Amino acid sequence: MKAVRVSTPGGLEALHVADVPEPVPAAGELTLEVRAASVNHLDIWVRRGLPVAKYPIILGADAAGIIRETGRRALLSPTLSCGTCEFCASGEKPLCVKYVILGEHRDGSQAERICVPAENLIPIPDTLSFEEAAAAPLVYLTAWRMLITRGRLAPSEDVLIWSAGAGVGVACLQLARLAGARVVATASTDEKCARLKELGADFVLNHAREDVPRRIRELTSKRGMDVVVDYIGKDTWGKSIQCVRRGGRIVTCGATSGHDPAEDLRQIFFRQIEILGCTMGNNKELLDALRPIFEGRIKPVIDRVLPLTEVAEAHRRLEARGVCGKIILRP
Ligand code: ZN
Repeated sequence: MKAVRVSTPGGLEALHVADVPEPVPAAGELTLEVRAASVNHLDIWVRRGLPVAKYPIILGADAAGIIRETGRRALLSPTLSCGTCEFCASGEKPLCVKYVILGEHRDGSQAERICVPAENLIPIPDTLSFEEAAAAPLVYLTAWRMLITRGRLAPSEDVLIWSAGAGVGVACLQLARLAGARVVATASTDEKCARLKELGADFVLNHAREDVPRRIRELTSKRGMDVVVDYIGKDTWGKSIQCVRRGGRIVTCGATSGHDPAEDLRQIFFRQIEILGCTMGNNKELLDALRPIFEGRIKPVIDRVLPLTEVAEAHRRLEARGVCGKIILRP
């Protein structure tokens, strides 16, 4: 079968649409016939080289398709855990010492077929397309855990989302609005700002030409934001600290611009800011995050659908930050 494989980490040339052996289901596993798989920033990290990734690897954490053994339509839950460590025992799957992410630690979804444990396949309603279903799991799971579980976002609170046009940013925007929060979203172009406004942002700021901390002070009468979502890292971290209110929360699930920002710790302790790290989530959080999508209250935003063979074009667009919503690959 065809699959997107990386044997040696590197640039776009490291992506190969290769003929690989058919996957064989282990005990307790089922086979998903993949109809759509989405591309995440995670794929770029794995393609460039992560010390924890195992190569060669098939990329992709998200997919939707038909379960070969049952004929049911389903989407893929992107993570596995050991089920026995102290964190799994306490229901904290994302802290599992053997936490596995598809497309990072084991072969992923950008293939014609994938075999996974039966519990990793979640039935989807007929009203949801394969593309919409494949766009959802990783980003809404991540957004839910960041905002709701870790961020404890409450109705009428103010949340700032940097670069909200990214897949996880759009998911944060939609879930924050659903939670009754007021959302300030940033983007690098006026076009993307207009799109974020359409998607429900209360205020949009063009971070390429506006002084975001100053605008936040104006918008909140100097108080600052209750919650700041920052997965950009080095370029935005100092500004996030300026934008958050005293006692407010900054949640992070990544660092696309660099992971080693300069930081003035006095700002953290004098203003009693909470820094909350976050990655993926557990099964309950995934089902909670998917419910509004299954009920039609949130629609995953799809930037474009490409054939699997054009995976390099998908990475190029994502790296250029020219995307609003998710890019979907069709095997
Ligand atoms: Zn575990």
